[in-house]
Amino acid sequence: MAKIKSDSCQYILALFILSFIGSAIFYVWRTSNKEHVRMLELTQRENIDNINALIREHNKAKSDTTDTWWITDEPPATLEIYNLIEAKNKQIENLIKMYADTTPETHQISERFKNIKISVLINGLPQEINYDHTKIKYPAGALDIIFLPEKVAMKDNQFLPTFSSVTDALTIPTIEIPESLYAPILFHELGHALRHYGERNLRNVKAMAEKDIMLEEAEMHSLGGEIMNVTSKGAYKQLVNIIVNRAPLSRSFGETIASITEDDLALCDKIFGCSHTQIPGMMLSSQLMIDVGFNYCEKNKLGIDSKFKVYKWLTEYVFLKWTP
Ligand SMILES: [Zn+2]
Repeated sequence: MAKIKSDSCQYILALFILSFIGSAIFYVWRTSNKEHVRMLELTQRENIDNINALIREHNKAKSDTTDTWWITDEPPATLEIYNLIEAKNKQIENLIKMYADTTPETHQISERFKNIKISVLINGLPQEINYDHTKIKYPAGALDIIFLPEKVAMKDNQFLPTFSSVTDALTIPTIEIPESLYAPILFHELGHALRHYGERNLRNVKAMAEKDIMLEEAEMHSLGGEIMNVTSKGAYKQLVNIIVNRAPLSRSFGETIASITEDDLALCDKIFGCSHTQIPGMMLSSQLMIDVGFNYCEKNKLGIDSKFKVYKWLTEYVFLKWTP
């Protein structure tokens, strides 16, 4: 009996020691894990602060720049305005054709949106400018494009081209945007249009989850990035690669994006003719940050879900109002 008692004592002691070691390991793991998470959050916050400071600096350097608007006020139906709108219409049609062979999706876009119908937002309603009062006949399925005069855009605080699946129309504020940037922005929005055109009446049943919206944005920004590379004759991807390769030890996409410098933004502006612009320059800097984050994900083989995180992180903490 005594032998059995001493065995069970040893057994209980062993159990006690084991559970003590177990909880000690768990405590150390939990503390160091907490510390790790805390450190990561801290560096992410630092990254966010650095990126926002960079954007502020970059804007300050351009404080004497003002954008040009090609329609400032709600226009009268004069021949001059008609010709101007006709020219802008032709420009969009040409750009849609010009970049058709960039990716399979740009090919689909150019096939789908061969015809567009232009109007200008006047008194809150899209109106065609027909100086001789003839009604233009548009083919069925022509995509509605609505130009916003400066005055209207300022009032509504709308400075970015946007496709709305509620109105089935693409709204474009009439800011002068260099064509090398205008083409990618246009295709980004036409990519949304390709996926959602004609959903106006299905809106309620087709409400998208936040993640799907963000994933679509990530894909549209990739599409825009491809066209930017073509319009810049490869200079854009080269710049993105230089930035990402320069920070090989980055522990997160945020750290890599935060390694972008004022010189990088200035060079990107120069490549796209945006050095003397405000809003187009902001759109460009936003796209560069997204592409640097995406490139980090690709280099580290992190997949599309991580691109979604890059997009969400940037829109939440950095430049919500500048992202088309
Ligand atoms: Zn978008």
